[in-house]
Parts: sequence; C-alpha cells; structure tokens
Amino acid sequence: MFIKDLFEAPISDISFMGDWDKNSSFRQQDRKLLSNPKAITKIKAMWKFPEDINFNIICVNHKEAKNHIEIGVVDQKYIAKGFTETGEDILKSLKGDEINVIFTNNNGSEGVPMTGWIMAHRLGHAIQRSRWRYPKLVYYWDEAIQLYIDSLSNLNEHYNTNFSINKRNQSLPLTGPLKYLVNHIGTMKSARDANIRNPYEFLHEMLAQYMITGSIKLNPPPLSFKYRNAIIKRPENESLDDEWIYDIPHQLKDYFETVLYNLVGKILVM
Ligand SMILES: [Zn+2]
Repeated sequence: MFIKDLFEAPISDISFMGDWDKNSSFRQQDRKLLSNPKAITKIKAMWKFPEDINFNIICVNHKEAKNHIEIGVVDQKYIAKGFTETGEDILKSLKGDEINVIFTNNNGSEGVPMTGWIMAHRLGHAIQRSRWRYPKLVYYWDEAIQLYIDSLSNLNEHYNTNFSINKRNQSLPLTGPLKYLVNHIGTMKSARDANIRNPYEFLHEMLAQYMITGSIKLNPPPLSFKYRNAIIKRPENESLDDEWIYDIPHQLKDYFETVLYNLVGKILVM
C-alpha cells in the first residue's frame, strides 16, 4: 500500500452537470463557491469517514434539477426519466462501487453556504427521504433515531420531569426542557449555538460530525439546568453519564456505518 492510499479522501470525485455560468437550481452564493477549485479541495478534504467507502458527488445546476429536491435513493430509470437534459451525463458518471450523491440544490432551511459539513448533513436528509421507498436499505437510520429518542425520553425519570417527545414525528420542533437538553448534549457548532430545531436535525448533525471527525461526541445530560423559573436537577449517576458519553455515540456510529455500507452502489438525490 502506498502512503497516498492511506490518506485517500472518501470523496473520489465532484463533477458538475448543467450550466454553472448562471443561477438555476443553485443560487449565486453556492454556484460561485462550487466553481472555486480551492473550495472543492477543501470539501474533499473534509469528508473522511467511513474510510473504506468512496463517494461520487455530482452537482447539477439546471432548471430540471428543481423538480428533484430531497428525493433520496433512486434508480437509473428515475434519472433517465426525470433529468431529460442532464440525465445522460449523470448516468455516464455514476460509479457502481461508490455511493453516488446528486446535489441538485442547497435550498435547505439551514440557509448556509455549501460547505463539506452541510453536504454531509444534507446527505442525512437524503437518507431520511429514502425511508419511504427503501425502508430496508436504510433500516439502521430508523434504529439510530429510535435509540436516541428513547434515551432522551428516559431522561424524564432522572429529572423527575414529564416533558414529552413525539416518537412518531421527529420533524416537530423541539420545545421546552427537551430543546435545552438536546442542544446541551450535542457538541457541534449548531448545538453550541442552540440552533438544533428538531430530533431529525440532530441526527443529521451527528452524521456530519461522524463523517468529518470519525466519531460522535456527546455531553452527558447536565446535573441541573434552569427552565423558566425552576431549576431542574438530577442525581449524579455514572451509568447515565457513560450511556451518553460512550454507549450512544458508539452505537450511533455503528448504525451510520451500516447505513452507509448498504448505500454503496446506490444513487441518492439531494
Ligand atoms: Zn437539515
């Protein structure tokens, strides 16, 4: 093995389809950013995990791309039918032994520029969308969300509170003590800025953290925190701390890796 192979980035290619000289499905800010070779080098260097999977990224700036936003896993027929002008080029550049991710836009509610982090985050959205048509393929994504939703819900016992968490719809906004707890437990920038809006967004952020740093880092739930005029406390509990510091991050990492391994050779449209 050559030294070069050891440091090979998971992103094998970032290619561009459509017309990048004008705004179309991508806005000016992202179009300019993605046209800058330095930005591309930076994005490629950011994605590092899983080390043994390659990603083939295809960015499509075209009006027909606007019809395909956050679709998730698709087959080649979908590309041929749905992308009448750029489809042929897209199909030619697909790779059977890599995860193919087609970015048609960066219009997410995050409203942030297309960086390596947000691209990994948005891959989470594409996986999420695959649950309807390809539930078996992304089964462990659901397992991941169930795991930490149940663990969050269990915190009620420790704090002797009764905040509720909607287990059926994780896109509902986090509110009250739960919102505080999620943003306290997360360690990424969005959590530090208290910007995690709902449980799904937290999962996407953890996926990005894993893909970029190789691990997920969580804080243990605080011993006390202020909510409205009350101080909410829990007793010291080493096993609860360990659950959040070690068990949940390790388990989530396993789930993410399994989901990604299962997506090798597939096409996702974001
Ligand atoms: Zn998001």
